[in-house]
Amino acid sequence: MENTPLKSSMSFAAILLFFATYTAAAQEFTPSMTEKWDPVPDIVTSGQMGSPPSDAIALFDGENLNAWESVRGGDAAWMVDGGEVTVNAGTGDIRTRQKFSDVQLHIEWRTPAVVEGDGQGRGNSGVFFHEIYEVQILDSYENVTYSNGQAGSVYKQHIPLVNASRGPGEWQTYDIIFRSPVFSTEGDLVRTAAVTVLHNGVLIQNHVELIGPSRYVGLPEYGVHGPGSIKLQDHGNPMTFRNIWVREL
Ligand code: MG
Repeated sequence: MENTPLKSSMSFAAILLFFATYTAAAQEFTPSMTEKWDPVPDIVTSGQMGSPPSDAIALFDGENLNAWESVRGGDAAWMVDGGEVTVNAGTGDIRTRQKFSDVQLHIEWRTPAVVEGDGQGRGNSGVFFHEIYEVQILDSYENVTYSNGQAGSVYKQHIPLVNASRGPGEWQTYDIIFRSPVFSTEGDLVRTAAVTVLHNGVLIQNHVELIGPSRYVGLPEYGVHGPGSIKLQDHGNPMTFRNIWVREL
C-alpha cells in the first residue's frame, strides 16, 4: 500500500512525458512530410458498361475460345455463338492457356431460362482459380441447396454474405479479386489464398481466406503450386458466358 503514491506519481510523469513527446513530434511535422509522390499509378482507361479496362486481358470477347483449352487436351469444345459461349455438356471443363497468380476477374454468366433440375443440379458451373479454388456458379434464385454451395459461395468454405441472384435466363456478373497463396521454398504455407466477390455489383465475399482447394468430399489441404489456369466447369448444365476478362495484379 505504501508504494501506491509513488506508483501513481510515476505513471503521471509517464503520461506527461508521452504528451510532451507527442506534441513535440507533431510540431516538427509539415504537411509535405506525409505526402508520397512516388510511385505514380499507371493510367487505366476504364471500360464502359462492363467492357474491359485498357490494361485487361480479354479471355473471351465474343469471337472465339483461342484463350482456352480443354482440360482433356486440345481446343475448348464449348459452343460460341452470337458473342456468347455455352457449355457443351460432356466435353469437360475448359481452362485458360495463360497461367495467372493474383487477379481481378470479370465474368458474365446466365443460367438456362428453362429451369431443369434442382439444388446443385440446376444451372451449375464454377470459376476455379489455379483450377482448384472454386467460386460457385449456380442458379440460386429460389433454389434451395446447402448455403456453402450456393451461387457466390467459395465452395464448401464460405457462405456468401447475401444472395444477390437474378432469375433464370438473366445475365449476371461476378467481379472477383483473387489473391493466390504463397509457399516458402521449404513448401510451407506462408500466406493463404483469399477472395473477394461482387455478385451483380453486391459484395458477397469480403476478402475471405481459403483453408485450401475446394473439395467435394472431405477437408481441404493446401499443396504447393505456382501460377495456374482459370477454369470454367462443365457440370452438365447448358450455362452461357460472355465478356470474360482478367487483370493481373
Ligand atoms: Mg460448380
